[in-house]
Amino acid sequence: MEETTTPAPETAGKDFIREIVEDDLKSGKHAKIATRFPPEPNGYLHIGHAKSICLNFGVAREYGGTCNLRYDDTNPLKEDVEYVDAIEADVRWLGFGWNGKYYASDYFGRLYDFAEELIRRGKAFVCDLTADEVRATRGTLTEPGQNSPYRDRPVEESLDLFRRMRAGEFADGSRTLRAKIDMASPNINLRDPALYRIRKAHHHRTGDDWCIYPMYDYAHAVSDWIEGITHSLCTLEFEDHRPLYDWCLLALGLENRPRQIEFARLNLTYTLLSKRRLLHLVTGGHVRGWDDPRMPTIAGLRRRGYTPEAIRDFAERIGLAKRDSVVDVALLEHCLREDLNRRAPRGMAVIDPVKVVLTNWPEGVVEELEAVNNPEDPSAGTRKVAFGRELFVERDDFREVPPPKYHRLSPGNEVRLRWGFIIRCEEVVKDADGNVVELRCTYDPTTKSGEAGAARKVKGTIHWVSAAHAVPAEVRLYDRLFTREDPNDAPEGQDWLTNLNPASLEVRQAFVEPALAMGVPGAYFQFERLGYFTVDADSVPGKPVFNRSVGLRDTWAKIERKGRAA
Ligand code: ATP
Ligand code: MG
Repeated sequence: MEETTTPAPETAGKDFIREIVEDDLKSGKHAKIATRFPPEPNGYLHIGHAKSICLNFGVAREYGGTCNLRYDDTNPLKEDVEYVDAIEADVRWLGFGWNGKYYASDYFGRLYDFAEELIRRGKAFVCDLTADEVRATRGTLTEPGQNSPYRDRPVEESLDLFRRMRAGEFADGSRTLRAKIDMASPNINLRDPALYRIRKAHHHRTGDDWCIYPMYDYAHAVSDWIEGITHSLCTLEFEDHRPLYDWCLLALGLENRPRQIEFARLNLTYTLLSKRRLLHLVTGGHVRGWDDPRMPTIAGLRRRGYTPEAIRDFAERIGLAKRDSVVDVALLEHCLREDLNRRAPRGMAVIDPVKVVLTNWPEGVVEELEAVNNPEDPSAGTRKVAFGRELFVERDDFREVPPPKYHRLSPGNEVRLRWGFIIRCEEVVKDADGNVVELRCTYDPTTKSGEAGAARKVKGTIHWVSAAHAVPAEVRLYDRLFTREDPNDAPEGQDWLTNLNPASLEVRQAFVEPALAMGVPGAYFQFERLGYFTVDADSVPGKPVFNRSVGLRDTWAKIERKGRAA
């Protein structure tokens, strides 16, 4: 994997694609620009696609142009309508709408006609070599390839064979339509590449209408042209294909040709961004599905609690480059944290509870304390939180023998309960095995938060829930899905799956304050001191399920500070 990059905190000026677009508008080359986002419906979109979506739709929006959603559905074997529906939902959720929605398969008729035109122009021929024979004659990076013996067959013969290919007369793999370019080209993509292949397969949209299917480079270039795309933005691996893209359109004598521009694809540490790999995780049962909150898919990120705003902010911060690099996943987390810090209502939840009994609080008395919903957003208001004699606090907020500088609960020590009172631990109750089961404490009635007596200060404040009011909840704590920064980097003799983190999901039974239990799936909260959580779709009334979206500690902010200091 390449070096991990630290993007500049603020993007300096415009990226190179926006510069090109501006120049083209200024020079009058285009009065209006047109882009497209062209997913192949063979899997769910991931965060890498989000970068491409934000770019294509974003540029169109910024410069008053249009952006189409086009399904690159030229490979009938791997594609499915399930994916089509998921892709649309994801693009919309990210906050974008398309001008036109098209399918490359809509153009199969026109693509076929253009292919006949290439044959008539002497630019393409039907080749009877098998795939193995084509491979054997393609040459290498240092050696030229050999011309196919069928390269110079008469136009009429190629036309006839191509029509019969289409009519289903020949077996899969027995013939191809090939471009006639240059078998000695240093660019192997130009060594008479296939434009059409025979594949007697059912297509999810065109059914059995076709038994020949266009190859990606040809279909992509011509589809872009049909839609009047001006800037065809794609990832760097297509740089070597650009001459073929241009060739297809030039060989057909087409004008107003789109310009292909490549940018670096997104790579993220501890993450795999390949639909093939992600599909493998799903079908192999390594995750619960495409929308498992550990998945880098947009559906997974959404279920994890990511917001479209956070993802768009991330796409903006990483910017665009012409060289591949790896972005630290901590930056993605940072973007979510920043967004949720501004917007998420706060609440209290205890994930690993130990009981506190306030011995000087009268039995049966409940007091409603006033709690601020979001200190970052005064308009979020306040709420009432019930407080009584029995509470739960985090087991980790008590130490029988406190380490130095431990300012939470310990025998004889005082701590403030958030929005409540100062309490002192008077007695520790243990079971027969020596486990702490109850902390008997006293509270100081003069120390209620927000009141005059509250001026008395102690060093620590901890969160809590009222035992009589708290709602039991399942909490799912997620960790990275892979243990290695580059999940593809497997130890000798093992594959990438050995890098799966066996502890990527931990399920806990927690108690949450009632306000948190009212959230509908997708609602997000900050559990005070614990992190940001979202309500999962698995929730049922009275038994909410929460996903931890991201913790509170910001490793990215640290990286950024270090970067600035350096
Ligand atoms: P994968 O390798 O994950 O299967 P793909 O490139 O085959 O991805 P497509 O459906 O063909 O997936 O991609 C649609 C668009 O999204 C393309 O323009 C592609 O370049 C872009 N894209 C895919 N992955 C990334 C990525 N990691 N970063 C940026 N853009 C990407
Ligand atoms: Mg692809």
